[in-house]
Amino acid sequence: MNYKNVTIAGSGVLGYQIAFQTAFHGFNVTVYDINDDVLEKAKAKFDTLSKAYKNDLNATQEQIAKTGQNLSYTSDLAEAVKNADLLIEAVPENPAIKTDFYKKLAKVAPEKTVFATNSSTLLPSQFAEATGRPSKFLALHFANTIWLHNTAEIMGHATTDPKVFEDVVEFAKAIGMLPLPLHKEQPGYILNSLLVPLLSAATRLLVTEVADPQTIDKTWMKATGAPVGPFGILDVVGITTAYNIDKMAAEKTQDKIKLKTVKYLKENYIDKNKLGVSTGEGFYKY
Ligand code: NAD
Repeated sequence: MNYKNVTIAGSGVLGYQIAFQTAFHGFNVTVYDINDDVLEKAKAKFDTLSKAYKNDLNATQEQIAKTGQNLSYTSDLAEAVKNADLLIEAVPENPAIKTDFYKKLAKVAPEKTVFATNSSTLLPSQFAEATGRPSKFLALHFANTIWLHNTAEIMGHATTDPKVFEDVVEFAKAIGMLPLPLHKEQPGYILNSLLVPLLSAATRLLVTEVADPQTIDKTWMKATGAPVGPFGILDVVGITTAYNIDKMAAEKTQDKIKLKTVKYLKENYIDKNKLGVSTGEGFYKY
């Protein structure tokens, strides 16, 4: 493995999970965020994740203690990357914030550092120039609850160095991920290219009153052998995310059924705080 020191930029939902998972697998991890107050909030998540790793992965106290020793925190960007072999960016899904971040990073990172973005919806080519090192830049996309849903979609842009790509595949394996290499850029990677149309077709069947969620899920599950149907998935993902994706699509296309779906989700789920598993009720009760 070519990498030893890994910096995670952004200590929010995904950033902190990536940091913990990487430290758990023995890498030296530096967590960077905009100020020390935010970093204190990140540190406070250590105990919650430790419990999850113990419960879900039978992690030992010794492994957890080592994970803690492998983690350090700083709000000084130059300090955060001074030894980094790899930097994983998990700052907000906002093109202006990401571009600005890469421009600042490019000025202080050593030449050897590879940059990887965890962006869910933005393509690496959009930021390649701002990184100042397009050949050492690509996407490494994790899923929420990464210690259980351990997919790592790896996607370069046109001029990513194939050797860098392979190193990141090896890194993903080394931190317990299932590496899923893509051969070219694709919005939504593999997972969301498949999932978004499925979920969208399911809500379309619902709002056009073809069938109810239970029947739609039952059909999918029985016919394909899947353990969960599209509405069960929506409850796990969170109905807010589906609502936001549909809203963007509806505003862009003005598609009548999409507009109806957005209204339906808002009135029946968002406004009633039925957001899925996280609030105890969505299409199903938990
Ligand atoms: P989040 O809002 O929970 O965390 C973002 C963090 O970035 C915050 O701690 C914030 O303080 C920090 N930040 C803001 N500006 C910054 C800057 N200039 N430099 C460094 N840090 C900065 O967001 P998140 O859910 O962790 O998402 C982060 C990225 O990961 C996004 O690109 C998102 O698309 C992607 N992602 C999220 C999920 C998910 O389920 N939440 C899943 C896969 C990928």
